[in-house]
Amino acid sequence: MSNPITSASSSSTTGGGIRVRTPGIPIKCWCGECIKELISKTNLNPYRRYYRCRYAAQKKLENDNHIFKWVDEAFTDEIQQLDYQVRMLEEEVQVLKATIRSEGPKIMKGG
Ligand SMILES: [Zn+2]
Repeated sequence: MSNPITSASSSSTTGGGIRVRTPGIPIKCWCGECIKELISKTNLNPYRRYYRCRYAAQKKLENDNHIFKWVDEAFTDEIQQLDYQVRMLEEEVQVLKATIRSEGPKIMKGG
C-alpha cells in the first residue's frame, strides 16, 4: 500500500515574506478581519484576482503577514483537497467491497 501523504510532498514557494499559509479559500484573516476579493493591477500579474485581508487592503499594507492569496491558487488548493478526499473514499470503498466479497452474500432463507 502506498502512502499518499509521503509520496506527494512537492512544495512550491510563491512570493515571499508571507508566513501564514491558509489551505484553500480563505474566509477570515488571523487578525479577525474579513477577506476581500481584489484584482491585481501590477505589471507582473495584471487583472489577476486575489484574496486580501480587508484591514491590510484599506491600509494599503505591504510585506505584512495579513492574508494574501491568489484566487486561482486557492481554487487549485480546494481541488487538490477534494481530489485527496475522493481518493481516500475510493480506497475505503475498495476495502468495504473486499470485505463484503470475502464474507459472501448473506441470503436469508426463510427463518
Ligand atoms: Zn488581517
